[in-house]
Amino acid sequence: MITVLEDMRNGVREDGIRRAGEIVRQGGLVAFPTETVYGLGADALDAGASAKIYQAKGRPSDNPLIVHIADWEAIERITEDRPAQARLLADMFWPGPLTMILKKSAAVPYATTGGLDTVAVRMPDHPIALALIRAGGGYIAAPSANTSGRPSPTTAQHVAEDMDGVIDMIIDGGPVSIGLESTIVDLTEETPMILRPGYISQEMLRDVIGSVKMDRGLISEDSSVRPKAPGMKYRHYAPRAPLFIVEGDRQRVQEKINALTAAENKKGRMPGVIATDETSGSYAHAIVESIGSRADERSIARHLYAILREFDRREVSVIYSESFETPQMGPAIMNRLMKAAGHQVIYA
Ligand code: AMP
Ligand code: MG
Repeated sequence: MITVLEDMRNGVREDGIRRAGEIVRQGGLVAFPTETVYGLGADALDAGASAKIYQAKGRPSDNPLIVHIADWEAIERITEDRPAQARLLADMFWPGPLTMILKKSAAVPYATTGGLDTVAVRMPDHPIALALIRAGGGYIAAPSANTSGRPSPTTAQHVAEDMDGVIDMIIDGGPVSIGLESTIVDLTEETPMILRPGYISQEMLRDVIGSVKMDRGLISEDSSVRPKAPGMKYRHYAPRAPLFIVEGDRQRVQEKINALTAAENKKGRMPGVIATDETSGSYAHAIVESIGSRADERSIARHLYAILREFDRREVSVIYSESFETPQMGPAIMNRLMKAAGHQVIYA
């Protein structure tokens, strides 16, 4: 298959959107930018089209897709009932990086929801995504546009690395602004529950709808407590080299990483270090990548996946990362980093 690349780095182009919408209506696959990461889109109400997404990504079929809409009214056709909290959250955070889980209607095929009776819905905050959704019929199922298990794509080049020759079109809208997938909140629970942390924090949700809990499967040390979102149980975002997170006070973390990387050098191997602008000058025995500034947590979120891909390219032997417990997005950043590391932590 030939993958068409549509350049919209300078803004939405109507002719390209029309072609992309046509592909979606005919059951094809189009990768497109959102504010979180690049999505791999297909008609969410067409079971055959959804099935193609799983095939292109190598995604396990029990891992449901998020349905993207462009207008609040579109939610009625795909959901059975909508608690008052849904409207409150939409008014506050849509378009934006928040996904809501609701009871699905018969219009949504089980192929899209991984066999579940609930559906995940989001309205992305990106002009290209919104234009494509409208051109494609109003309902686009879209997981991240990476091969299953690889870091999520934050540029069109990342998408091409994984999907060139496999999908119909990639729309290049330049680098994304947030860089981590949406917060998922389940509104079918008695108390709304966060199934995946993201840019929208627990506190921000509580300010709008009151009590909100965190899925125990996300925070429990006990691996028999399963996360409720099927996708959260898989090792995701994995770089090729083993990744370890080094935790502790900043000085000791630096000493520990320097000792570990020096030992690696002695064996004739080149490790990688994920540092920050504040610390990247303190490491000597490794390929050092700064993820961003500790004073700007958005920069850390935005660069995480690109750095994991960069270390694949540099073929480092092992990666050591500082940890990033930042105020708003800390839980989301550490959730993704921990998954990438397969939960391997070294205490300094
Ligand atoms: P991705 O599309 O790669 O961002 O992954 C979507 C995430 O949403 C996965 O972790 C899914 O398991 C989760 N998800 C989608 N639909 C549902 C649902 N109906 N119930 C629970 N989790 C869901
Ligand atoms: Mg994904």
